[in-house]
Amino acid sequence: MTETLDIKITKTNKSRLEETDFSNLVFGRTFTDHMLVADYIDGDWKNFEIVPYGHILVSPAISSLHYGQSFFEGIKAYKHTDGKVSIFRPDKNAARFNKSAERLCMPTLPEDVFLQSLAAVVDIDRDWVPAQPGHSLYIRPFMFATDQFLGVQPSKNYKYMVLLCPVGPYFSKPLRVKVETYYTRAAEGGMGYAKSSGNYGGSMLPARKATEEGFDQLIWTDAKEHKYVEEMGAANVMFVLDGKLVTPLAQNTILDGVTRDTVITLAREMGVPVEERKVAVAEIIEGAKNGKLTDAFGAGTAATIAPVGSISLNGEEYTLIDPKEREFSQKVLRQLDAIRYGNVPDTHGWNYLV
Ligand SMILES: *Cc1c(COP(=O)(O)O)cnc(C)c1O
Repeated sequence: MTETLDIKITKTNKSRLEETDFSNLVFGRTFTDHMLVADYIDGDWKNFEIVPYGHILVSPAISSLHYGQSFFEGIKAYKHTDGKVSIFRPDKNAARFNKSAERLCMPTLPEDVFLQSLAAVVDIDRDWVPAQPGHSLYIRPFMFATDQFLGVQPSKNYKYMVLLCPVGPYFSKPLRVKVETYYTRAAEGGMGYAKSSGNYGGSMLPARKATEEGFDQLIWTDAKEHKYVEEMGAANVMFVLDGKLVTPLAQNTILDGVTRDTVITLAREMGVPVEERKVAVAEIIEGAKNGKLTDAFGAGTAATIAPVGSISLNGEEYTLIDPKEREFSQKVLRQLDAIRYGNVPDTHGWNYLV
């Protein structure tokens, strides 16, 4: 750890904590009392401040609005049974934050500055970290270009901010999923591996079409041939096929998810063989037909594990086994929760205590 980050703190004089209904949280709608703001000016990060959550004033000409120099991260903090608060693997997000920044010609943020900024704002709002089972505090760091300039070129100035949202358990009814064979999320050489805002704007139309057809989610395939599985919505996709955990390699077109990495690590410890490789749509469909596909789920910070109930390809629907009977994902989820809520020793050093 380098020197302590200098953060100016202005606390709210009226907390909204008391009036917040923690039993009816909608993901991403409820914000805590404070947020963190910092500026990148003249080649340096400065003005780190924690202020009451609220609107910010920006010019309508900022280049992030026009050309999409903007990206984000998603992380969760948990309240342990003994009252401690920890953030789950934020060092991984710090590294990915900088990968996204580099892809978008934006400035990086030193890893320890990222970690200290998260810890500082979570600490101020630590009473907002819900203690109920399955609940957590979602942390949303993001960066955007702030030059007032309508020319297409990298901005010189940026804002880095962190917002916090208490969130409840993710609704995990088995998802009806469609294999997308027309639209693509990311192409080779593109920015699929970055958590770039534009990737999500582009995914909304295909997602809406899938919803209109009665599906909950779609599985993205490769841009060239639509033959290989890539991701599921804004989550990584993982399968248990013939007793092995199988998932696409996280490179180039695929976001390198922290949840994905965590599941892989736990699988290896459980003695489950792991294959990170190209995954053909055809072998997944074959596995669904012959029963060798015993588990399928999306993996991401928001949902953790989102079970796939059925997979549809070109109008043909294949129903998978009942999620309650899936040994692997059930076991991984239990283990992961035990670690995040501090109920078992954190042997990997995944919990960053605040
Ligand atoms: C955020 C995200 C994921 C999941 O990453 P986590 O680090 O596990 O939250 C996977 N795919 C996409 C496209 C994402 O945006």
